[in-house]
Amino acid sequence: MRAAVERGLLGPAAPVVGLLDVAGIRESAASLRAAFDAVLAPGTPVLHAFAVKATPLVPVLRLLDAEGIGAEVASPGELALARAAGVPPARTVLDSPAKTPAELREALVLGIAVNADNPQELERIDALMRSAPSRSPLGIRVNPQLGGGSIESTSTATATSKFGVALRDEGAREWVVRAYLDRPWLTRLHAHTGSQGIPLPLMARGAAETYALAEEINARAGRRQIDTLDIGGGLPVNFASDATTPTYARYARLLREAVPGLFDGRYGLVTEFGRSLLAKHGTVVARVEYAKSAGGRRVAVTHAGVQVATRTVYVPAAWPLRIVAYDAKGRPKSGTEVVQDVAGPACFAGDLLAEARALPRLDQGDYAAALDTGAYYFAHHYAYNSLARPGIYGFAPDGAGGTAFATVREPQTLDEIVAEAGGAHASALTTLSTPENR
Ligand SMILES: *Cc1c(COP(=O)(O)O)cnc(C)c1O
Repeated sequence: MRAAVERGLLGPAAPVVGLLDVAGIRESAASLRAAFDAVLAPGTPVLHAFAVKATPLVPVLRLLDAEGIGAEVASPGELALARAAGVPPARTVLDSPAKTPAELREALVLGIAVNADNPQELERIDALMRSAPSRSPLGIRVNPQLGGGSIESTSTATATSKFGVALRDEGAREWVVRAYLDRPWLTRLHAHTGSQGIPLPLMARGAAETYALAEEINARAGRRQIDTLDIGGGLPVNFASDATTPTYARYARLLREAVPGLFDGRYGLVTEFGRSLLAKHGTVVARVEYAKSAGGRRVAVTHAGVQVATRTVYVPAAWPLRIVAYDAKGRPKSGTEVVQDVAGPACFAGDLLAEARALPRLDQGDYAAALDTGAYYFAHHYAYNSLARPGIYGFAPDGAGGTAFATVREPQTLDEIVAEAGGAHASALTTLSTPENR
């Protein structure tokens, strides 16, 4: 924080930034690999594919690639980011629920792994496979319908979830088995049942159900047709303290106890973790523009609100964030805590990063840091009030007792905001040919 202020990355002219801890990201990647290497039979092929949606930033994807982590993409944009980062097709997985024929064709030409979401999508893949064979590893995504967790909007394995083939629906399991028996090129099976708010035992049951289905299909096929299981991502993150819990090591051990057959070397493994790899390594920092009082409540008006912490602002009970107070030089503030609101810059009353939070008193020119925001926060700009996307900087020790910074994303300029708001088409509507102005 002090270095960012000294360097001018943060200040009156740059009142909100995102900061990424490069060493922390590397450590998380290494702990993910180590956790599964410790429980998998030696030599088992394993691909950890980072869910790009969690932090869709090209330099982050390249850093993860350098740490041996591939990419799970779910849109043409995410695939373009992964390719720009240099993630090879063989380490990329495409999973979206709404893939167009053009997207499927491109993935199959590139040799990217694809998990078909539903029967209609599988028909499209059938047609593509008839017209040209592909190296792409192909599978079907299933939903074991195990129920949800504590957050409805991130629960993927509910009975009526929009994702995958709902396995417990009448006839669905038999349809899946037949789909494999009819298509020797289907060699993977995919389920993603975890996310924030999902208990680990429920995630392990998701993997167990997927494994059981693969065993059933292989038995019916009389050969090891399914050679790789994609168990998805979704490890929850602890937003309440600095502790990284649950750890990948704990989850991997739990999985091995619950589904030993998944680890004996007969199946290759794909994982798709997102939030748990990046959340704890990002901080959004905002300057206090004004500090005031209303109805007896202190209010710090900062530059971070709904545009960088959308979920927290709209659903604060499910997505609380820790806030740390810093002074104008970037030193942690101490002193008596005061109950205060930490507000954002947007023009609606609910734009609060934290409500009635006890913190050292924030004054004008201080900074409020929202911790654990490296995934699904400042990289997910929401253009409310045409607020500019903040700059994002990676930091690491410079080896001489200081801190080195690198630009990950430039702050958005006003010209870019205008251009993205149709600036090139300013008279499109006034000159539209209508009976009145013809
Ligand atoms: C979002 C998503 C992930 C990653 O989920 P996290 O909770 O960020 O780990 C993995 N796989 C699929 C298919 C997803 O949609």
